[in-house]
Amino acid sequence: MERIRVAVAGAGGRMGREVVKMVLQDDTLELTAAIASSTGPVDAASLVGLPSCGVTVTNDFTAALVNSKPDVLVDFTTPNTVMEHTTLAIQHGVRPVVGTTGFTPEQIEELQAICKEKELGGLIAPNFSIGAILMMRFAQQAAKYFPDLEIIEYHGDQKLDAPSGTAVKTAELVAQVRAEHKQGNPNEEEKIEGARGGYYNGFRIHSVRLPGIFAQQEVIFGGNGQTLRIRHDSYERAGYMPGVNVAIKKVMQLDQLIYGFEHILDQE
Ligand code: NAP
Repeated sequence: MERIRVAVAGAGGRMGREVVKMVLQDDTLELTAAIASSTGPVDAASLVGLPSCGVTVTNDFTAALVNSKPDVLVDFTTPNTVMEHTTLAIQHGVRPVVGTTGFTPEQIEELQAICKEKELGGLIAPNFSIGAILMMRFAQQAAKYFPDLEIIEYHGDQKLDAPSGTAVKTAELVAQVRAEHKQGNPNEEEKIEGARGGYYNGFRIHSVRLPGIFAQQEVIFGGNGQTLRIRHDSYERAGYMPGVNVAIKKVMQLDQLIYGFEHILDQE
């Protein structure tokens, strides 16, 4: 069976290195190019402590695409560069698998239009964690039967935004199926401001920020005489790789650009 040829942009970054490692360790994938802006022309395998693979890291994105003829481009770079990378990839008939965040809805529509015209598969996914996506799905299912809930999310203390994007997305999914009502005692009084967390559609979201934590979330449902807890724990970036691996294989069968990894799971 022919291996899927993969180029990785952002190969020197935290996510990009994990992708290089995952590709090199999967016999059905072949690393054809590794693009990084500041590692210098080293062997890509040296970035992840593996034996030499014969692919020299380059900072010339277009030359890498044209010369190495990949089937798929995996991009974990920066919001400034990802639009240009993805457009160039599609123009060269290379299927994009993009984890870089920061696209505007208009940019996604534009890229979807070019892919449609070329009947080219691709995926842009703000979250490749299969566990996190299932946790959100299960929470949405549970909210139909347990309309009283609270979300607690835990991240490292350097995270800038609160609540996390995953918590907001979970809240939106829950709100789609739960009749809006304000939970708790109507006369409740906060003795310390913020003690009850952020308010969303009648329920609360709490953001814990501590050193040592990577990314975790718990959705607690309370009903008559019972509680249900749905929890997902991420410990390191490697946790995103099974999702990226599935995506690389899936886009080979697609003829359109999909936004959101959950839609890939629907097709499994
Ligand atoms: P990071 O460690 O800062 O890596 C970004 C890398 O991109 C850096 O090594 C940077 O190289 C490189 N880069 C920037 N411009 C480039 C260019 N023109 N050509 C080649 N490489 C270029 O960040 P990260 O933690 O890996 O995250 C990367 C992106 O993935 C972010 O947008 C983040 O939000 C997103 N992310 C997504 C998921 C998901 O599940 N979808 C999960 C985690 C993170 P230099 O340092 O040399 O400039």
